[in-house]
Amino acid sequence: MRRTASCCCGALKAHCEGEPVRVSLCHCLECQKRTGSAFGVQARFNEDQVMIEGPSGSWSRTGDEGTVAQFSFCLTCGSTVLWRNAEMPGVVAVTVGAFADPTFPGPTRTVYEDRAHPWLELHGIAEQYD
Ligand SMILES: [Zn+2]
Ligand SMILES: [Zn+2]
Repeated sequence: MRRTASCCCGALKAHCEGEPVRVSLCHCLECQKRTGSAFGVQARFNEDQVMIEGPSGSWSRTGDEGTVAQFSFCLTCGSTVLWRNAEMPGVVAVTVGAFADPTFPGPTRTVYEDRAHPWLELHGIAEQYD
């Protein structure tokens, strides 16, 4: 199985081989800002499953727990396609929306439940964490 995530304009792509290690949904306020939506969904892959194509910019953000995430975005359209976390070497998080594929495996866990919009109703997700 090979799937490709891409930014809005198509200049930055992440070709992903095989299945994601984990898919999760994040309600945190930073994911809300990054996506412009009410939550973020991301798929973790091992570094060797992902081939990146096209130029990207990057910026880093320190999270609540002091971990540093480095985001890669398209220099033309600004979409974030992937990021890496300093705490998890060898792992790449790819934004699920960038696959534009409703058949993409759904999240098995949610995080930052305490920051979720109250109108959201999610079904079939086993693990939920504040
Ligand atoms: Zn782009
Ligand atoms: Zn988040």
